[in-house]
Order: sequence, then structure tokens, then C-alpha cells
Amino acid sequence: MNKRRRIYEGKAKVLYEGPEPGTLIQHFKDDATAFNAKKHALIEGKGVLNNRISEYVFTKLGEIGVPTHFIKRLNMREQLIREVEIVPLEVVVRNVAAGSLATRLGLEEGTQLPRSIIEFYYKKDELNDPMVSEEHITAFGWATPQEIDEIMQLALRINDFLVGLFLGIGIRLVDFKVEFGRFYDNEQVRIVLADEISPDCCRLWDAQSGDKLDKDRFRRDLGGVLEAYQEVARRLGVLTETPRPRGAGPVLVASNASSNGPVAPVNGKPN
Ligand code: UDP
Repeated sequence: MNKRRRIYEGKAKVLYEGPEPGTLIQHFKDDATAFNAKKHALIEGKGVLNNRISEYVFTKLGEIGVPTHFIKRLNMREQLIREVEIVPLEVVVRNVAAGSLATRLGLEEGTQLPRSIIEFYYKKDELNDPMVSEEHITAFGWATPQEIDEIMQLALRINDFLVGLFLGIGIRLVDFKVEFGRFYDNEQVRIVLADEISPDCCRLWDAQSGDKLDKDRFRRDLGGVLEAYQEVARRLGVLTETPRPRGAGPVLVASNASSNGPVAPVNGKPN
């Protein structure tokens, strides 16, 4: 096998050089980290689920006109993406108080917010990704005022769409983090959604029971991390097969994974 050039290795993903200029391959690992990588574990199968879930969400967002870096899924763990220049911001959208917001403002987790709130964090591990304001972003040149406007509009559109998408499968979208990139298209520079959207970077609560179906299960040692991610994938209809014990023989599965389209539900209707 040809050795691919590794462009970047993050906590949960690796980026390789793509087959054509301007493309990259995004590989989803099983590593789970929290608290700026102070806590680390391998959750076997997580990368496969996140690849599928993120493919589904990015495809759906593309269908409503949100520009994204996603081109197509290549295999169980990898997707082909457009190379972009990442804006060094973590953009968090919140609908319900949880996590750091609940702590910072002394709100009870689960309190519905008066409206959706956008926060920016400067992507800098050494500094623990500090929260920053638009003033910091423009003063230090991380993004222009026009880019911030575009990012905020896209973030709210993504939020509106995802709130509905998840509510339709009995899940409350509490908050999530997204990243954006600059895509250089001849003379034009466009802001596009990049990175991933998966239970690693969202808070997803079962609408009925309130059960956490996201990375908080790992952060807070609640157990059942993989099962929670599987449940999200199953409800979205992207789980094509249930993980089988190691050493089990091959099984013939109907493969309906199109190169760039979502996979039809196979486990019956989501509840
Ligand atoms: N988040 C993320 N990466 C980070 C920090 C936060 O994906 O480095 C996500 C997190 O999963 C949650 C949202 O952003 O869905 C808001 O996280 P919060 O600020 O509450 O931080 P936390 O409590 O996770 O430290």
C-alpha cells in the first residue's frame, strides 16, 4: 500500500493528503479525549460511527444549501473533503444550559435558554481554548467582521436545522461546537462548514428520559459511550450493521452506502 502523506493529526482525527490537489482525506480515530486531552481512552468503533453520523449530517446540511467541506465518504473511517484554511475558532451554539455555561453563570443544567446563544473560543490547546469576543477576533485578525457575520448566520441556520432533525428522532439538541474554513474558489473566498458534527461535539439528550447520548458519557464516566453513539446512529438510520463479536464469520449485508448520499434507514422508523 502506498504511504500517504499525513498532513495533521488531531485528538480524534487524522488528515491525509487527498487524491487530487485541494482535497484531503479525513480519518476518524477511536480516541476519545476530554479536558484538553488530560483524559484519554480508546472507544472501539467510535470513529466508524462518527464518520457515518457526520457524513449524514453534512449531507443533509448540504441539501439545504449550507456550504461544507464534505465531498464523499470513502470507507468505514474516512471521508474525502475539500482542503480549507481553518478559521481558528470553535463556534458553540447553545439552546439549553449545560456544561461550561451552566457552571459559569450558575444555571441549572437543562434550563431552556431565552434564545439560541453563540459563543466563540480561540482554538489554542496551550491556552485551553479561551472564550473570546468579536472584538478579540477582529483585533487579532482571526476573522474579519464580514466573516464573523457569515459564520454566525451559518451557525444559526445549522442550529435551526439540527434542532428539528434531532427532535424528529426524539433527541434534544442542547448545544454543539462547529468549525469553519475558508475555501479558495478561484478568485473567491467562501466560508464553509468544516471538521465534523457528531456526538463528540454535540450534547444530545433523549427527549423523553433526558439520557445523555453524547461525549458527556465519557467526560463524566457514565459508561455506555459506544452504545449511546450507536443509538444516535440507529435513530438517524445510518447504522447498517450491529457490531459483531470478534472472530465471527463473514456475513452478507446489503450495501446501500452510496458514495455521497445518506443511507436509507434500515432499522425501521426512528421513534
Ligand atoms: N465542545 C467541543 N469541543 C471542545 C469544547 C466543547 O466539541 O473543545 C462542545 C461540547 O461537546 C458541547 C459544546 O461544545 O456540545 C459546549 O461545550 P462547553 O463549553 O459546555 O464545554 P464543556 O462543558 O464540554 O467543557
